[in-house]
Amino acid sequence: QLSKRLHCVASFIKRGMKIADIGSDHAYLPCYSVKRGTASFAVAGEIAEGPFRSAKEQVERVRLGHLIDVRKGDGLEVVHPEEVDCIIIAGMGGPLISQILDNGKEKLTGVSRLILQPNVGAEHIRYWLLENGWELIDEQILEEDGKIYEVLVAEQGTPSNSYNQSELLMGPFLLKKRNGVFFKKWSAELKAWQNILNSMERAKDRPETEEKKQELLRKIAIVEEALK
Ligand code: SAM
Repeated sequence: QLSKRLHCVASFIKRGMKIADIGSDHAYLPCYSVKRGTASFAVAGEIAEGPFRSAKEQVERVRLGHLIDVRKGDGLEVVHPEEVDCIIIAGMGGPLISQILDNGKEKLTGVSRLILQPNVGAEHIRYWLLENGWELIDEQILEEDGKIYEVLVAEQGTPSNSYNQSELLMGPFLLKKRNGVFFKKWSAELKAWQNILNSMERAKDRPETEEKKQELLRKIAIVEEALK
């Protein structure tokens, strides 16, 4: 049984797609998608020895070694050019996901869809997509075991519009849907930022504080306006 989070990620794989799951860990996502026939082939990429081994073991356990190739390496270096049409990167921070995409840009030419699930910092990914000619086609936000996750889906193509500040930070699709989880996430963020601001007030003389404070105030203003 796949987690609610990975289930949401998997739901964006189009039938028959060849996928690469980068940072696959236990390879649950490729195993699930190939077993159900949504993905026709999968690469499970892992940088770390432990997760790489557990991915290999899982694929052997479910006897899918002929359809899922577990490879060890950094980011998109495990993918051959034109080998897959969908890249999935889930369960990492937004900055790391953006960095993996940026480092492996030359591997993205044959890729039609990206499914990205940042645990934090989704705005870094939205910036990267916009800068690199990818268009967001959907976003989801969900809660599981007390944690809130976002899923971003993008396709190749010139973005039809450039996003404003609140869309970049909070997501153009999520802003439109404005569901309960969305309000819960941003109310909690506002509270946390307010606490950070308060502790910054107490450490006013530190030189790095002013810049961070301005950035927090900027984000607080955006979120407060959007939640009105
Ligand atoms: N994708 C799975 C999920 O969403 O449940 C596992 C997420 S786990 C928190 C992150 C995994 O990404 C770890 O197993 C880690 O070793 C791997 N990882 C981190 N940086 C990586 C990179 N540059 N290339 C490949 N794998 C990476």
